[in-house]
Amino acid sequence: MLALLLIWLDTVVAMEGFAYVMHRWVMHGPGWFLHESHHRVRHGNFELNDFYAVIFALPSIILLYGGVQAGWGGWATAVGAGIATYGAIYFGFHDVIVHRRLAHRYIPKSAYMKRIVQAHRLHHAVESKHHGISFGFLVAPPLDKLMVQLEQSKGRLRGPARRSI
Ligand SMILES: [Zn+2]
Ligand SMILES: [Zn+2]
Repeated sequence: MLALLLIWLDTVVAMEGFAYVMHRWVMHGPGWFLHESHHRVRHGNFELNDFYAVIFALPSIILLYGGVQAGWGGWATAVGAGIATYGAIYFGFHDVIVHRRLAHRYIPKSAYMKRIVQAHRLHHAVESKHHGISFGFLVAPPLDKLMVQLEQSKGRLRGPARRSI
């Protein structure tokens, strides 16, 4: 049981690294055609970028099914649950707290929450496929480091590609 809890926890932690890699090199790379919608003003409740939530939920659903129904073993359930847990935390942080897709009155107070919210806002300070900064979600470098990266990135950008959210 403890081993399964550790697998679950490791999966949640590893998913932040996976999300960073996907965001930086896939969504701001060949997958930009979907992610671009998230860097534009949204019309209506959904954006093309939401397909990523569906895509990333699939391995979780398959692993949970395999672990619970198809006898793949407890590891599959633990990994599937870890991916789902990260997805829920990601949705709460990214879509609800930062982008306010659901109404709420939460205001970040702790130093950690202020930092990761601000870090994602800085990601949206560069609304282009290239030259982005701050691709992580739950882990972020100190804001002064990100501000330096932002200035460097603005120096590389030509034209008014910035907007604040
Ligand atoms: Zn992005
Ligand atoms: Zn965002």
